[in-house]
Parts: sequence; C-alpha cells; structure tokens
Amino acid sequence: MNFLEERITKDGIVKEGNVLKVDSFLNHQMDIQLFDEIGEEFKRRFANEHINKILTIEASGIGIACMVARHFDVPVVFAKKSKSINIEGEMYVAEVESFTHKCKNQVIVSKKFLSPDDHVLIIDDFLANGCALQGLISIVNEAGATVEGIGIVIEKGFQSGGRIIRNLGYHLESLAIVDSMDAATGTITFRHE
Ligand code: 5GP
Repeated sequence: MNFLEERITKDGIVKEGNVLKVDSFLNHQMDIQLFDEIGEEFKRRFANEHINKILTIEASGIGIACMVARHFDVPVVFAKKSKSINIEGEMYVAEVESFTHKCKNQVIVSKKFLSPDDHVLIIDDFLANGCALQGLISIVNEAGATVEGIGIVIEKGFQSGGRIIRNLGYHLESLAIVDSMDAATGTITFRHE
C-alpha cells in the first residue's frame, strides 16, 4: 500500500451511494503534510512533461493544486462554478454535472488566464464518472492550450471516468484507485495495475 492508500484505509469512510468520505484529511480538514507528499508524487510522475500551469476546479481541488504547484513552481488557475449565464465573451465556459451534489453547474475560466501557450496539468481530488475532468479538458481545448497530464488523488475505479479519460489518450495518473468499497462493512480495496 502506498502512503495515500494507507491513509484512506485508516480514515476514509464509505457512504451509501458510492461516496467515499475523506473529510478528515482531504475535503474539509486538510493534512498539509500529506498534500505535500501528493505534490511530490505528481512531480515524479509527470517529470517528463513541460508544465507551466495547473488547472483545477473549486472547491476541493484548490488546496491540493496549490501544494502540487509548489513542486512545479507554476501558477494555479481554478475553474469557478457560476450560476450566471451572462458571461460569454471574456470567459471559457463548460457544463459540469456534480457527482456529489447531483446538480449541473457552469464552470468558467477567464480568457486572461489560459492561452494557446499554456501546457496544463489538470488536478482534482476525485475521479468518478469523469464529468468534472471532461469540463476542464474542454476549457483547455477551447483556449487552444495543451493538456500535458491529469493528476487525480482518488479514482473510483468501479465508475466509468478513468476508462473514458484513458481511452481519449490522456496521461492520467491516479495516486489511489479504489477497486471496490462496501458501505456495510467499511471495506475498501485498491487496484494495482
Ligand atoms: P465526476 O465528475 O468524475 O463524476 O466526479 C468528480 C467530482 O465529484 C470530484 O471533483 C469530487 O469533488 C466529487 N466526488 C465524486 N465522487 C466522490 C466521492 O466518492 N467522495 C467525495 N468526497 N467526492 C466525490
């Protein structure tokens, strides 16, 4: 087990509806030492890519992306969730369906902060069905920038997102891939490829 799998096993809570709660170290209280290790690991896994910007989505991606950015020495841009529809022109816009909140959000990034010169590493906390990632990828494409890689902290391997994103040909690295989890027993098993 790697450092993250150990922590998920110790502190993760399996909820009904295929939700893994990691509030005590990732999504509410944040363990910054762990975030730093996550940043170091992504730096190692994407060592061969030329990355000049990190893109994530609010809210839970931001803290992680900031610590990852320390290791790459690049800025972080986060896509904002917006209810407003009157934002065309200065913004790149994508529609994202939230897995945890079951609602649709428009996510926006100002055109000032992404351009064809950018080589982007996308970072997020979870990968489930891949909606959040597809929204971020479409924003990078709209900007004419390049997705150099995608770093996910926890992928739920029994949902479709990972397969879809890998089939599209992206370099996707997930630090922990949950193969199965059981709310009744609290058991979590990991996939090692
Ligand atoms: P997707 O768009 O891939 O279906 O879902 C990814 C997003 O939903 C992530 O940004 C994350 O915020 C949230 N999410 C999906 N599954 C889980 C989960 O099991 N636990 C938590 N805490 N968040 C999740």
